[in-house]
Amino acid sequence: MLTHNLGYPRIGSQRELKKACEQFWAGKIPTEELEKVSNSLKANNWEVQKAAGLDLIPVNDFSYYDQVLDLSMLVGAIPERFQKLASEKSPLDLYFAMARGYQKEGFDLKPLEMTKWFETNYHYLVPEFKEDQTFTLQGHKPFEEFTAAKKSGVSPKPVLLGPISYLLLGKEKEAGFSRIDLLDQLLPTYTAILKKFRELGAEWVQIDEPCLSLDLSDQVEEKYQQVYDHFNAELPELKVILANYFDCFGDNLDRALRLPVEVLHLDLVRCPSQLDDILSHQSLANQTLSLGLVDGRNIWKNRYRKSLSMIETTIQQIGKERVWLAPSCSLLHCPYDLDDEQRLDPEIKGWLAFAKQKIGELKDLKMIALTPYATNSRQKLQENDEYINSRASSTKIHNQKVKAAIWALKEEDYKRSSAFSTRQKIQKERFILPLYPTTTIGSFPQTKELRLLRSRFKKGEISQAAYTGKIEKAIAEALKWQEEIGLDVLVHGEFERNDMVEYFGELLNGFAFTQNGWVQSYGSRCVKPPIIYGDVSRPNDMTVKWSKFAQDHSAKPVKGMLTGPITILQWSFIRDDQPRSQTANQIALSIREEVKSLEKAGIRIIQIDEPAFREGLPLRQKDWANYLDWAVKAFRLSSSGIQDQTQIHTHMCYSEFNDIITHIANMDADVITIETSRSEMELLAAFQDFKYPNEIGPGVYDIHSPRIPKQKEIIDLIAKAKSFIPKENIWINPDCGLKTRQWEETKAALSNMVEAARLLRKLDS
Ligand code: GLN
Ligand code: ZN
Repeated sequence: MLTHNLGYPRIGSQRELKKACEQFWAGKIPTEELEKVSNSLKANNWEVQKAAGLDLIPVNDFSYYDQVLDLSMLVGAIPERFQKLASEKSPLDLYFAMARGYQKEGFDLKPLEMTKWFETNYHYLVPEFKEDQTFTLQGHKPFEEFTAAKKSGVSPKPVLLGPISYLLLGKEKEAGFSRIDLLDQLLPTYTAILKKFRELGAEWVQIDEPCLSLDLSDQVEEKYQQVYDHFNAELPELKVILANYFDCFGDNLDRALRLPVEVLHLDLVRCPSQLDDILSHQSLANQTLSLGLVDGRNIWKNRYRKSLSMIETTIQQIGKERVWLAPSCSLLHCPYDLDDEQRLDPEIKGWLAFAKQKIGELKDLKMIALTPYATNSRQKLQENDEYINSRASSTKIHNQKVKAAIWALKEEDYKRSSAFSTRQKIQKERFILPLYPTTTIGSFPQTKELRLLRSRFKKGEISQAAYTGKIEKAIAEALKWQEEIGLDVLVHGEFERNDMVEYFGELLNGFAFTQNGWVQSYGSRCVKPPIIYGDVSRPNDMTVKWSKFAQDHSAKPVKGMLTGPITILQWSFIRDDQPRSQTANQIALSIREEVKSLEKAGIRIIQIDEPAFREGLPLRQKDWANYLDWAVKAFRLSSSGIQDQTQIHTHMCYSEFNDIITHIANMDADVITIETSRSEMELLAAFQDFKYPNEIGPGVYDIHSPRIPKQKEIIDLIAKAKSFIPKENIWINPDCGLKTRQWEETKAALSNMVEAARLLRKLDS
C-alpha cells in the first residue's frame, strides 16, 4: 500500500511566489531572484511531504503561473503572434507574455484566454490551436525539477496533464478542424517527454485526464485507447498512474478500465459510489486503485472511519498490494497549513485540515489500515473520532431555529405574490422611469484612500464614528455625481465592502475566516474563501444603514445591493455534512430577511447579485437539472418575501446563457443585468430561440478595460437588442461593477452611456 499526492499548492504559505512574481514583473528583482524563491518553495514542499511519510511525491506540479501554460510551453504550442517576441526575449519573458500580454517595446500582444479549471475557482490559460499546428519538445523545467527533487532525497513522481485533456481544454483558433485531431501530431512530443523522464530514472508518472469526468463522444473515448496503447508500446517499463478527478468516471469507466495503465486514480470524495462499480466491474483486471479519499477541494478533517471502510472493502476484493491512498485531486485548491492560523476559534480549528494536515491524514490512514490494533493506530483513530463527533454535535453548528425555519417553508415562499406582468405594471406606475432607464451595477472605483480607511478601521485605528462619516461622505458624493450626469436608478457605491462575499460572511452566523487561507485563483491572484461551518443565520441588518443613508440623500431610487445565495455558496469553503442545496437555502433565508428589512426601510429597488450562478453547474449534463432546480429556488427564496411594487434586480457577469436561459428566466427577477459587450452575438443568439420574459439590461460596455465606449457603439448595441427584446423591457448599464476602474474613466464612460440613452429615446419617440 503506497501513499501519494497528486499535487501540492505552490504559491507559498505566505504567498511568496505571488510577491516574487509581481516584483519580477515590475522589474524590481532579476530572474535569479525569482528562481531562488521558487526553488526554495519547491524544496520546502518536497520536504514537508517527505516528512509526512508520503511514498511518492509529485514534481512538475509547481508553476510560475499555470500548469496548462507550462505544458503549452513544453510542447511548443506558441501562438504565432508570439513568435517574434520568442526570438528576441528569454523563454521566461515569453512565458509571462503568454500569460499576461505584452505591451511595450513596440509589441502589443494579447495574452492567451483564461478560463475556469473545471468547476473550481482556479483559472488556466487556454491553449490555442491551428489546423496545421505542430508540436516540439521545448524547455527543461519539468526535467530539472525531477532531478532536483531526486537529489533532495525524495521519490519524485512527475505529474503531467494528459494529451487528450490538454487538447480538449484548448480552443481552435480557426475554423475547419477539430482540435482532437491534432492528437497524432502531439503524441510523439508526449512520448519524448515521457522518455526523458524515464531516462532520468522515473519509475512512475502520473498522467491527469480529468476530462474523463465529462461527457465524451465515442470518438474521443476511442482516442484514449489509442494514446495509452501507444505509451504502453513505446515505454513498457514506465508505470502510468492515470488520474481522474472532480467527478465519477461514469460512462467512461469501462474504457478507463481497459486502458493499459498500472494505477487508476479515483475521486472518492466527489463520487464515492464508483468504488463499488469498479470493484464489481468485469473489466477490472490487475490494476492498482488509487483511492482519492482525502478531500482536495475542501478544508475539513477526513472522517477516518468512513475512509477506512472503503479501504477495507477494496483490500478484501483486490488485496492490499493493489491499494494506494491519495487526496481526491491536487491540493492546489487548499490552503497551505492550518498551523499558521492563530485566530480561528479553537473548536472550529479542530475540525479542519489544510494541505499539510491532509498529507498527514494519508499517513494515518495507511497506518491504521495496515496495523489496526497497534497503540498508535488506535490513538489516531480515537482522536479523529473525537473531532468528528465534536463537529457533528456542536452547538456552534446546529441552530434549531434555522432548521425549524427551513422546515416551515411553504411553496408560496418561493414565489412573488403576483406574476411578472402584474408587477411590471405596478412598478412602471410607481417609478415613472424613462424609456431605456440607465443604471450601474453597484460598485464605484475603490480608491487607495478607501482601502486604507477600511483596513485602519478593521485594525481599530479609527473610531466607528469617523469611519461612518468618511463612508457617508463618499456615498453622498457618488450620489450627487450620479444625479448630475443624469442616471435614472442610482447606487450607493459599495465603498464599505472589500469583497462581495466576505462582507456578508462577516455579518452572518456560521462563517469563519482565516488569516492565511489563500488559494490560487489565477497567476499571482489568490483568494481567501470564507469557511461556512454552521447553520447560517442573520443576527442583524447587514446593509440597511448604508442603503437608507443613500436613499435619504436622493429623490431618485437608490438600489439596495446584496450578494445572492449561490454566489456566497460558490465562493466559500462549504459544509460537507449537508447537501449544497441545504446550505444555499439557509443563506437564501438570511438574504430574504435582509431584503425584507431593506423594503421596510424604504428601499424600493433591491439588487441580488449572482455572478457565480453558472459556475455552480455540475460537470455532467445529466446533473444540471437537479442543480438548476435548487439554485433557482434558492434565489427565489431570497427575493420573494416582498410586495409587488418592490423591484428585484439581479446581475450576472457572463454571457453564456444559451443553455440555461429558461432557468434564468425562472429566477423571475424583475430586471436582470448581464454582460454582453465582449460577445454580443452569442447572447443575442440566445434570444433568438427564447423570448426572455422580464426586463433586461444587456451590458453596453466592457468594464474590464480602461477604454471609454463611444456613444455610437452603445446605440448600435441597443438597436440590435431591440430586435429581440421589447424596448419597454430594455435597461442601459455597463457590464459589471466599476470598482477596478479609475474615477476619470468611469465618469467619461457613464456620461457617454447616459447621453446614448437620451439619443435612443429621441430616436424612438
Ligand atoms: N454589485 C457588484 C459590483 O458592482 C457586482 C460584482 C460582480 O458581479 N462580480 O461590484
Ligand atoms: Zn458582474
